[in-house]
Amino acid sequence: MASTLAPKCPVCGKAKSQDFTPFCSAGCKDRDLLQWLGEGYKVPGAPVSPDQLADHFSGDAGRDGES
Ligand SMILES: [Zn+2]
Repeated sequence: MASTLAPKCPVCGKAKSQDFTPFCSAGCKDRDLLQWLGEGYKVPGAPVSPDQLADHFSGDAGRDGES
């Protein structure tokens, strides 16, 4: 544990590339971004497009007039 911090890709653990720092490649950069977006969609209150909301709630929307 006394070694200097080896710059590694946080996605796959390979040595990072200067062009895609801190990732090793564009693929890992994209993967990290997609993971981020995926997490965001799971979090309540996160920005979601109206279309997605409509699709998500279409099952319950039918009970609107019930009271
Ligand atoms: Zn990588």
